[in-house]
Amino acid sequence: MKGLFKGLGVTMKALTSKKVTYPYPDKPLEMPDRFRGIQYFEPDKCIVCNMCARICPTDCITLTGKPNPDPEKKGKVIDTFDINFEICILCDLCTEVCPTEAIVMTNNFELATYSRDELFKNMEWLNENNQNIRQENNSAMPKGGARKNV
Ligand code: SF4
Ligand code: SF4
Repeated sequence: MKGLFKGLGVTMKALTSKKVTYPYPDKPLEMPDRFRGIQYFEPDKCIVCNMCARICPTDCITLTGKPNPDPEKKGKVIDTFDINFEICILCDLCTEVCPTEAIVMTNNFELATYSRDELFKNMEWLNENNQNIRQENNSAMPKGGARKNV
């Protein structure tokens, strides 16, 4: 009997104490600003220098460029840009070396899917991943674009 009351005491104490659980995914999880999450890519800023693909330790970036359609301008513009999130380790190196901040980290981390094929993200998908851009990369956000920093 003494044990029963002791157990009830523990239960009552737990009922009135502050909750330690979090209603995820109903309530979005806010990550620290230095968190390294899924990249945002801005095609207009990319100069097709290939530095991100060359430094990537897992070879998960594939990109192609094409000659600039504007005859007044030299150089290339980006044609395709894909990241394979099956093997991306979100190490941040690609964003660190990018000279134009065309690719930056966000605080987004949700990539769970039923198919591995869906972990190949193309340029359009990466460009639409424009929420929660990392605080230090605020300047990377296009004017009028959605932004929600933590
Ligand atoms: S975060 Fe790292 S592993 Fe992922 S694409 Fe960039 S360099 Fe490669
Ligand atoms: S994203 Fe940046 S580093 Fe990669 S090719 Fe474009 S400009 Fe170069």
